[in-house]
Amino acid sequence: MNIRTRLTLLFVLLVASIVLLFTVSVYYLYDQFREQEFQQRLEEKAFTTVRLREDVGEVPRADLPVMTDEQVTIYNKQGLVLYNQDNQRPRFPVTPNFLNKITLRQPQYIRIGEIEAIGVLHLNSRGAPLLIVASGNDRYGLSKLDRLREILFSGWLLSLFIVGIAGYLFATDALRPVAELIIQVNAISATNIHERLRVGRQRDELADLARTFNDLLIRLEEAFVLQKSFVSHASHELRTPLTVMMGQIEVTRLQARSAEEYEIAFDGLLDEVKSMIRLVNGLLELARASSDAVNLNYQPVRIDELLWQAQSLIVSKMPDYQIDIDFTDLPNQEEELVIVGEESLLQTAFQNLMENGCKYSFDGCVSVRISFERKQLQLTFIDHGYGIPEADIPHIFEPFYRSDSTMTINGHGIGLALTQRIIELHQGHIKVESVVGEGTTFRITLPTTYDSSSHSGDTPELSENAGTTSGF
Ligand code: ADP
Repeated sequence: MNIRTRLTLLFVLLVASIVLLFTVSVYYLYDQFREQEFQQRLEEKAFTTVRLREDVGEVPRADLPVMTDEQVTIYNKQGLVLYNQDNQRPRFPVTPNFLNKITLRQPQYIRIGEIEAIGVLHLNSRGAPLLIVASGNDRYGLSKLDRLREILFSGWLLSLFIVGIAGYLFATDALRPVAELIIQVNAISATNIHERLRVGRQRDELADLARTFNDLLIRLEEAFVLQKSFVSHASHELRTPLTVMMGQIEVTRLQARSAEEYEIAFDGLLDEVKSMIRLVNGLLELARASSDAVNLNYQPVRIDELLWQAQSLIVSKMPDYQIDIDFTDLPNQEEELVIVGEESLLQTAFQNLMENGCKYSFDGCVSVRISFERKQLQLTFIDHGYGIPEADIPHIFEPFYRSDSTMTINGHGIGLALTQRIIELHQGHIKVESVVGEGTTFRITLPTTYDSSSHSGDTPELSENAGTTSGF
C-alpha cells in the first residue's frame, strides 16, 4: 500500500470516527430529551386527570391533551383500581412492585414496546394517597427520533464520501513534492552527477531531505572525481618508469655494448623495476586497507615490537638512516602497548612515517616517541628535515600528492594516503605539524585494549626497565 492510500485511509478513518462519535452523542442526547419531555407530559396528564376527577367528579375527554393510546388508571394504596380512563381497552399492565415503588418525590417510569408509562403519587383532599399510572405512545417523538437517526446516518455516509475525496486530494497534494523529488533523483546518473535537486524557498522536511540528498551528491561527486584522478595518476605513475625502461632498452640496443655498459644499463632497469614494484605494492596495500575492514586479520599486536621490526627493516635497506625509538613515560602494564589490529598494515604505516622522516631530512634521522594516555597510545614521529609548506599540508594525505619542494626525491605519493587509511581502520587519528626548514612531526593516536581504571591498584611490571627500551 503506498503512502497516499495509507494517508487517505487514515484520514477517512479518523474523521469517520469523530463524526460517528458526534452523531451517536446527538442521537443519544435527543432520545434522552424526548423521553424526559414525554415523561413530563404523562405526569401532567396524570395530575390533571386526578384533579379534574376530584373537582368535577368526572374527566371530560375533550379537556385533556390528546396523546396516542393514552390511558390513565388511578389505584388506591392497596393496588385496587378506582378509575380507568378508557374501560374499553385493556389496562396498561403494572405490577404491585411497580406501584409500591411510587413515592411522592419519586415517580416511576416504565416502557413496554412503544408504550411508556409513569406512576405518580397524589394525596387527595382527605390526605389519602392515590397512585396514578398514565401511559401513552409518543408517536411523534419516536418518529422524529427515527427521522433524526436516518438523517444522521446518511449525513455520516455523505461525510465519509466527502472526507475520502478530500483526503485523497490532500494526500496527493502533500506528496507532490516527494513525487517531484523522485523524478529529479531518477534523472541523476554518473554522467550528470554534478546536478543538484531544487530545494526551493520552503523550510520544511522535504527541503531538508533535498538538501541532505544534495550533500550526499557532493560527497559522491568528490569520491567520483577522486577515483577518476586516482586511476589517471596511477596510470601515469606506472607509465613513467615503463617509458624510461623502454628508452633505456632502445638506447642500449642501438649498438653493441661492453659488459660494464650492459651491467650499468641493467642496474638502471633494476632500479626502475624496484620502484614499480614499490608503487604496485603500495597500491595493493591501499586497496586492501580501503576494502571492507571485516576481511582483515585483526589480532592483538604489541606496538613496540612492530616499531622495532619496522626500524630494522628500513635500516637493513638503508644503513645511513637513523631511527631512534624511545618511551616518553614507561607503561605500567604490558597490555598498555597492545592494540587490536592488522600487524602487516600497521607495520607498513610505521615504516612509511619512519622512511619519510629520514628521506625528507638533511641528517636522515627520525625519532619515534611512545606515550600513553587513558586507553590511548600516542606515537610521535619527529624529524628535523625540510618541512612541508603550509599550502601542501591539507593535501599530503591525498593519493599521489607530492609537494613541489620534494619532487627531486624519489617517491610516488602513496605512503601517507595509505598510512592515514590504516590508522583510521584502527579507529585512530593522524595529525601533522610542520615548519619549513625546521622539521615535521606526525602524531598518531591509537586506542589500546587496556583499561587503566580497572588496573589502578596493580604493581607496575615494567618499571624495572625504566630508562631503557630493550625490555620490550
Ligand atoms: P612519497 O614520500 O612517496 O612522496 P608520501 O605519501 O609518503 O609519498 O608523502 C607525500 C608527500 O608529503 C611527500 O612527497 C612529501 O612532499 C611530503 N612529506 C611526507 N612526509 C614528509 C616529511 N617527513 N617531511 C617533509 N615532507 C614530507
